[in-house]
Amino acid sequence: MENFKIDVDGDGIALVTFDVPGRSMNTITGSVMRDLVQLTDTVKSDDKIKGVVITSGKASGFCAGADLGEMNQRGAGDASAPKSEEEKLKAQFEGSFTLNKTLRALETCGKPVAVALEGLALGGGLEIALACHYRVAADNPKIKFGLPEAKVGLLPGAGGTQRLPRLIGVQNAAMMILQGADKSPQEAKSLGFINEVVPAGTTVEAAKAWVKANPKAVAPWDVKGYKVKDHPFTPGGGMASVGGNAMVSKQTNLNYPAQRHILSCIYEGTQVPIDAALRIESRYFVKTANTPQAKGMIRSLFVSMQALSKGGNRPQGIPEYAVKKVAVIGAGLMGAGIAYVQAKAGIETVLLDVSQEAAEKGKAYSKRIVDKDVSRGKLTKEKGDELLARITPSTDYALIKGSDLVVEAVFESPALKAEVTKKAEAFLGETAVFGSNTSTLPITGLAEASVRPKNFIGIHFFSPVERMGLVELIRGKDTTDETVAKAIDYVLKIKKTPIIVNDFRGFYTSRCFGTYPAEGVEMLMEGIAPAIIENVGRQCGMPMGALEVSDSVGLDTALKIGKTNAELNQQDYKKDPRAAMLSWLVEDKGRVGRKGGKGYYEYGDDGKPTRIWPGLAEKIEVKTKECPPALKEELTKRFLFRQCIEVARCFEEGVITDPRDADVGSILAWGFAPYSGGCISYIDLFWGTKKFVEEADRLADKYGDRFRPNKLLRDMAAKNESFYERFGAKKAA
Ligand code: NAD
Repeated sequence: MENFKIDVDGDGIALVTFDVPGRSMNTITGSVMRDLVQLTDTVKSDDKIKGVVITSGKASGFCAGADLGEMNQRGAGDASAPKSEEEKLKAQFEGSFTLNKTLRALETCGKPVAVALEGLALGGGLEIALACHYRVAADNPKIKFGLPEAKVGLLPGAGGTQRLPRLIGVQNAAMMILQGADKSPQEAKSLGFINEVVPAGTTVEAAKAWVKANPKAVAPWDVKGYKVKDHPFTPGGGMASVGGNAMVSKQTNLNYPAQRHILSCIYEGTQVPIDAALRIESRYFVKTANTPQAKGMIRSLFVSMQALSKGGNRPQGIPEYAVKKVAVIGAGLMGAGIAYVQAKAGIETVLLDVSQEAAEKGKAYSKRIVDKDVSRGKLTKEKGDELLARITPSTDYALIKGSDLVVEAVFESPALKAEVTKKAEAFLGETAVFGSNTSTLPITGLAEASVRPKNFIGIHFFSPVERMGLVELIRGKDTTDETVAKAIDYVLKIKKTPIIVNDFRGFYTSRCFGTYPAEGVEMLMEGIAPAIIENVGRQCGMPMGALEVSDSVGLDTALKIGKTNAELNQQDYKKDPRAAMLSWLVEDKGRVGRKGGKGYYEYGDDGKPTRIWPGLAEKIEVKTKECPPALKEELTKRFLFRQCIEVARCFEEGVITDPRDADVGSILAWGFAPYSGGCISYIDLFWGTKKFVEEADRLADKYGDRFRPNKLLRDMAAKNESFYERFGAKKAA
């Protein structure tokens, strides 16, 4: 066995050390599964072994669960040569049931098995531990135990949905599994799935002592008369099943099949003996793993996100850039947030504005966050002071000297940005990077003000900077690979996820994101009741209703963009009914959106929307007041297709080139239905390009050319090719 080492001591207790070679953390790979079968056979058949203690050879913890990277490539189960659909499912079931069968064999091997947990046990790692008769954990509140599979659209498939409810009751287990929540050793002990918590470094000793004292150990559910706490046929359990279903439906809008399958697994499995229960779990596991949601979520939310946050899209062969000092110009909303995340990451930060007062105000933003964290015990006063000491607010551009990078975040004006660029570059070294946080202005144009356009790049943050995980890096015409690599190193240092796009008005994120609120306005103008538009928007997985998004962005901003576009196309903007409507709202009615307290919505004193503005009725006659399922489906398609088609156009125009960037960007930047794995995965996995194009053509015939598939999509549909095949075969996860 390459992953487990067995040492039998004088008492016949086998210490099994789990240690996957060449990895910093144990995960469950195909090879580990094969070894577990052999380990179980050895434990059972070797007479010298009287009992077993399993532990980890890694300082990082016990085991982080299934190897999702491997699973992403393989799909559910190892069905490499599927024949019919039925045979494929059967092979997948057998593949996924193997681990359940093995762990059950270990549990019933007739010898006591304990596990000594000095570090984290998550997913399959915790499931191995749950299949042991006794669990000892080190007393360290930082250790996490949990079943996080639901977060990537899966369910625990190695007994977790069956053993956890049997140990801690149906209600507690359902909550923990549905939320993918983790628990500390003490919490786990009080819930009842850890038996003993002992000082760190003594778990093996304690586990051995238990094994010695309990030669005849069996699992609680193998003792006659065992009953699952609050199983569905108890009054509390019955209520919990009904309530649980309602809660999951409300929270997920039925977009996440894993959530419902988890409830079904627990409901069905806790009514039958464990062996049948494990088969039920394996069946639901295969069913869940085969959903496009699981495939999309594993790929984008886990594999790609991990790859990108390790520099997976960084140009190769360029040495790592040590970013120690960065100047931020403009201490407004964005600059203040950028200064905070930099200082938090240990970067010496110069924060410049036009007056000392404005610069200090920008720094005060960090102080507010730090004070809050200190008062909540999340940060020590000392560390907080250190963080703040890294930010130097000033008006003196000479302080830029020695900076590795500059982030410009002044007002969105090309002339001002040009002036600031020139002023800053006078103090900037030859190899330093100049980044502009512009949200719309083409980078190539801004770089004209630079003496070193090859070092010039767009570094587009999202608001609020400290909470938004994405940074969009925009290459200008002259931006070099070296500059991109350096900017990526900066983004990784401040612990954000970078995506790389090419220069275009609105770049990638602002351009595609705008199609969602725009479609909402189209629906409004067709006479669909605003409540239907907003509810369907949220129910199809978007974080807010489309009209609410328009209000958040600012109706005046949308009007300005509309006017600019009309000018570019030499049109009278008022001839466009959407622009006319915006002009009526903004110019006639003074409704600029959330920031002004009035837009499509009315707002309360707390800034939260209270209701749709009834005055809309002056302009719009509501014709559709009911939303039967067929209409909901149609509106859902309109919302999602519209965004995806814009993303496909971005690929055709070369604005974006890596499907991972497109998928992760769509989820992190504008919250595109996360269950889909992102816009590209929605096309690839939920439809396939062929069907997607057919459906988009139907929508275009009915609603207009904004839905018309581009040449690229048609080309791919003709070959039945996916985006990941065409654009990401080598690079993408
Ligand atoms: P803001 O109005 O809050 O801040 C701009 C700051 O720049 C002000 O404090 C101003 O005093 C300062 N400034 C002006 N001229 C200066 C100069 N010559 N030298 C130094 N400082 C100067 O604006 P913001 O919302 O922080 O936006 C800044 C940039 O970030 C814009 O280009 C904007 O498009 C972009 N952006 C904004 C958002 C957002 O959500 N607000 C998101 C992404 C990008």
